[in-house]
Amino acid sequence: MTDLEKLAELIFPDVTETIEDLETRYPKRDLPEGAIVARFAPSPTGFLHTGSLFATLIAWRFPTQSNGVFFTRLEDTDTKREIAGSGEELLRQLEAFGIIPNEGYMGTYEKGNYGPYKQSDRELIYRTVIKELVKRNLAYPCFCSSDDLTNLRAYQEQNKLNPGYYGEFAKCSRLTPSEAIAKIENGEPYVMRFRSSGNYQNKVQITDLIRGNLELAENDQHIVILKSDGLPTYHFAHLVDDHFMRTTHITRGEEWLPSLPIHYELFDTVGWEKPNYAHLPVIMKLDNGNRRKLSKRKDPEASVSFFLENGYPVEGILEYLITIANSNFEEWRLQNMNANIYDFKLSFEKMNLDGALFDLAKVENICKERLSRLTKDEFTTKAYDFACKYDNQLKELIDRDVDYFKSIINIEREKDNPRKDYTTFKDIYPIINFFYNDLYEELLAKEELPFNKERFDNATIAKVLNAFKANMGLEYDEENWFNNLKQTTESVGFCSNVKEYKKNKEAYPGHVGDVSEMIRIAISTRRNTPNPYYALKILGKEEVSRRIDLVLNKLN
Ligand code: GLU
Repeated sequence: MTDLEKLAELIFPDVTETIEDLETRYPKRDLPEGAIVARFAPSPTGFLHTGSLFATLIAWRFPTQSNGVFFTRLEDTDTKREIAGSGEELLRQLEAFGIIPNEGYMGTYEKGNYGPYKQSDRELIYRTVIKELVKRNLAYPCFCSSDDLTNLRAYQEQNKLNPGYYGEFAKCSRLTPSEAIAKIENGEPYVMRFRSSGNYQNKVQITDLIRGNLELAENDQHIVILKSDGLPTYHFAHLVDDHFMRTTHITRGEEWLPSLPIHYELFDTVGWEKPNYAHLPVIMKLDNGNRRKLSKRKDPEASVSFFLENGYPVEGILEYLITIANSNFEEWRLQNMNANIYDFKLSFEKMNLDGALFDLAKVENICKERLSRLTKDEFTTKAYDFACKYDNQLKELIDRDVDYFKSIINIEREKDNPRKDYTTFKDIYPIINFFYNDLYEELLAKEELPFNKERFDNATIAKVLNAFKANMGLEYDEENWFNNLKQTTESVGFCSNVKEYKKNKEAYPGHVGDVSEMIRIAISTRRNTPNPYYALKILGKEEVSRRIDLVLNKLN
């Protein structure tokens, strides 16, 4: 046995398998040409960040578009920052967005042949690889204490040298195997480091699928690969896991781009084929004219649960994220207004490079648009689903009479240019509650009616409402109803043509728009409602008449 083999045996007596065995256990995947294997690899350190949802959406679309595999892996090696239960919660939130992994860590169980998918369960795999690296003199134990490292850093700072454990400063890399064995036998604590042969002066050519060809300085750091707690560092776990899980494309945040020379060197040194890399833009926010990262402390919209709890339709959020991902999406959407977003093929070439700006107002516009395009049945199912989780009042309304609910939310829906009444499912209740008689009465008792008291006195309002009550015209279609309303308008001395009114304001107390606003207020207590013609029809003549009487009473 060589000294290196002795050292490897001493450190890893429990490892009986070899890299070869792992290669056999985790064979190349049998997938069609061009199929992409990508993953979502969250650390269970908290909630799902909107930026992670963005990255995951992309990591999921490419395999899904190419008949590949999308899997999840739990990166739970930072035991100090771990928050219990957050791994499962992340999976549940992704599911709410329709993102369901083909394999991997599924929250409460695992699925697939390339596991375990939790890094804390993969210790033996990492140890197997490192054992072999020790034998090949590519990894070694480092006995430097944290004081040693602090002193090293101070020295490097003073002398304006690059910081880190490299070259002449990589003290333990020069220990002979027998010296290392002696220290271990002596009980000295250690971590495992990778022996770099890189030179910081050299450049390494890097290809990123989004950013193209780049030149970065070679890695020369002897990075830690196994910490003293026996768990791997991110860099080493990335090498081992993405190799044996046969990931073809690493889609991850651009904060990892500077580490890419480390990953290149690891793959090249071990002799494994490198995956493709795509470093995704970070999601930014415009704050007082300055761009900054979307922050979990400052911005509620940084957390995916904000959107779920507030009833934003997931298709609106997904659509927005695709909009910021690919520059050609919006144009496609204009030509395919009713198509499923996933008919759009996402591409790396069209990926926006600059930090993608997250604009809540735009998200809301998209949500409005998407909600308006759902059929009444789709809308109702999704609204009910939201209501069951987050909005009891709404649930109660739907439960009362689902067909009545559908008739309300179907106002100007299922047509060419549908009306955009709702931005979120949370908007529904305060927009539609007046359709329910008991709730209307509560509103009426509680609220000051927003009639324009500066322009109209009570007598005028009463005159208008009485005239309308006498001749509602609900038997007509919308156009004729409006013609009828114009006649009523004229009968009370108002002007039935807004333009004409504007030319000659003195001649009339108001115009047809004022009349219809008074009607809206009377039946709903509000100035804004879904289209009044349909609202009136749903309420029915009798109820409208009853409401007008209640309002007239209140005016007196
Ligand atoms: N656990 C890493 C993170 O949360 C994953 C990065 C990657 O996708 O490789 O940032």
